[in-house]
Amino acid sequence: SVPAAILSALAAAARGGVLFKGGAALETLADAGIFAFDKTGTLTTGKAGVTQVIAPEGEDAFLSLIAGLEAQSEHPIADAIRRHAESRGVGRAQVHDVETVPSEGIIGRDSTGPVWAGNPRMARRMGAGLRQPEFAALAGTAQTVVWLGRGDRVLGAVSLADRPRATSAAGLAALRAEGVGTITMMTGDHRAVGLRIGAELGIAPQDVHADLLPEDKVRLVGELAGRGRVAFVGDGVNDAAALARADVGIAMGAAGSEVALQAADVALLSDDMGRLAAAHRLARRTRRVIR
Ligand code: ADP
Ligand code: MG
Repeated sequence: SVPAAILSALAAAARGGVLFKGGAALETLADAGIFAFDKTGTLTTGKAGVTQVIAPEGEDAFLSLIAGLEAQSEHPIADAIRRHAESRGVGRAQVHDVETVPSEGIIGRDSTGPVWAGNPRMARRMGAGLRQPEFAALAGTAQTVVWLGRGDRVLGAVSLADRPRATSAAGLAALRAEGVGTITMMTGDHRAVGLRIGAELGIAPQDVHADLLPEDKVRLVGELAGRGRVAFVGDGVNDAAALARADVGIAMGAAGSEVALQAADVALLSDDMGRLAAAHRLARRTRRVIR
């Protein structure tokens, strides 16, 4: 049976908005000395808003099509794009058969054929080139960029300002203060964004891993596991495999995806990263009591 100290710690954690799927997860979290964090939707909100739209063929048609696609995505940047289109009073184009490609974007169909939105990997998948002079302003930007295309033609792009959650810096500092020796970022976004957010949170450049596919996150978690117990914190469909691979997987419960929640051992019901550090502290204290 589960020791009373663990039951009462699980209850205390739940009151603080941290749900453990069982006592074993509490004990594993106590041992975790390595933390890997997803970026978009985890360390950051991913929803800070659209900063630039480049749409050579007209902004309204562009926004309508991208909003039609993103209407069917649960990614945080999809939310930001939908809200931007709405604020411009633009409706959503009819897009059907929409599919998510984790860490790349989404593909659907409209009356003309395939349409898509995503990163350069997605553009490559669709055979679309990004080197037109109209888009030069986006090269090397430290913002998240989403390209929109129809078949092998690029229609334009939006850039989004991604910002750390208000509680991320303090949450990471609290983990470090408790002796968590390694904190890394693993993101599907491009490197310039990862480095900028990392710098704001005190994550060293060598601990920022960018341009990752879901399987890259799994591999990196496996590499860290050679050095100690690993906790992975994520929100997205693209994080599910890494959450399962980690010794303890922690999902963002408030805005995270269903798949991430299912794969995780722990759910954070609030977006407050301070709650994560508090749960880690509680887990350590409880383990001292039961041993
Ligand atoms: P992270 O690992 O930081 O959470 P993701 O792997 O979820 O980031 O996303 C990586 C990149 O893939 C995004 O920066 C974006 O360019 C692209 N992407 C992912 N989902 C979508 C979507 N729904 N619409 C457009 N682009 C997307
Ligand atoms: Mg994410």
